[in-house]
Amino acid sequence: MNHTEISVEFFPPQTPEGVEKLRATRAKLAELKPEFFSVTYGAGGSTPERTFAIVREIAAEGLSAAPHLSCIGSTRESIRAILDEYKAENIRRIVALRGDLPSGTGDAGEFRYANELVEFIRKETGDHFTLEVAAYPEWHPQARSPADDLAAFVKKVKAGANSAITQYFYNADAYFHFVDSVRKQGVDIPIVPGIMPISGFSKLARFSDACGAEIPRWMRRKFEGFGDDADSIKAFGLDVVTELCERLLAGGAPGLHFYCMNQAALTTEICKRLKIA
Ligand code: FAD
Repeated sequence: MNHTEISVEFFPPQTPEGVEKLRATRAKLAELKPEFFSVTYGAGGSTPERTFAIVREIAAEGLSAAPHLSCIGSTRESIRAILDEYKAENIRRIVALRGDLPSGTGDAGEFRYANELVEFIRKETGDHFTLEVAAYPEWHPQARSPADDLAAFVKKVKAGANSAITQYFYNADAYFHFVDSVRKQGVDIPIVPGIMPISGFSKLARFSDACGAEIPRWMRRKFEGFGDDADSIKAFGLDVVTELCERLLAGGAPGLHFYCMNQAALTTEICKRLKIA
């Protein structure tokens, strides 16, 4: 067994059944002893209250919980109120994001970019929170250029981020290149690769197009060739994602952050293959 640090991301379920199922998922994944479980915020129409409810449950189980917090569309006052709640619950880690406004929503609020949120949290709460920020090895889809995106990332770090979690990707070289570029800017915080296990192909392809993560052609063609054969898709997905993790860890990645999609099986199997306790 090795001591690779992992973390796992959940989204807040929409139904009581989903919440119950997540408890079982969490119990299973807790066996992997993740450094923390993070909980998304505001994505896919979920409400801040749902994030908070799951975060509170995780903390009550004695596990480390890291709520995501996105700032677009928010006021300083509303963010301050959320920070106060998290402080009162002794939450010590936040994933600080800009987030995306739902299309058609006009008011961008008082924050424009994640670096402003990081700066605000530091100003309001000092060193209470460990702050994680997002990183994009294949570049953020709205970035004007890689150079601008890199500069924006450095700005977030200089504002007070402790660590970064990347968007998922299937091309290890993109990660290594990103880390090299960031180090050349004098940034030395850990950049933890985000890992998306593959349970199916068509949904993943749609999602990847939207968030700017590339599924390499050779993988895409293989998946397409499997048609509806779910077992082959799963087996191939497990092989490629495990190999990706091996390459990342061998190349110096400081840990792995799993986008588990509230399911335990694939993350558990990948960690088993990687011999992560
Ligand atoms: P930023 O770092 O602000 O960057 C956004 C864009 O603006 C980039 O193109 C960047 O180059 C540019 N930019 C940044 N700063 C500046 C600046 N100062 N001046 C000019 N340009 C700038 N979304 C959710 O809604 N909820 C979640 O819980 C969630 N969790 C996530 C977790 C991770 C690990 C990741 C990688 C993404 C997550 N997202 C989530 C998605 C994220 O909110 C979107 O990708 C969003 O579009 C950007 O957020 P950000 O914090 O990276 O923004």
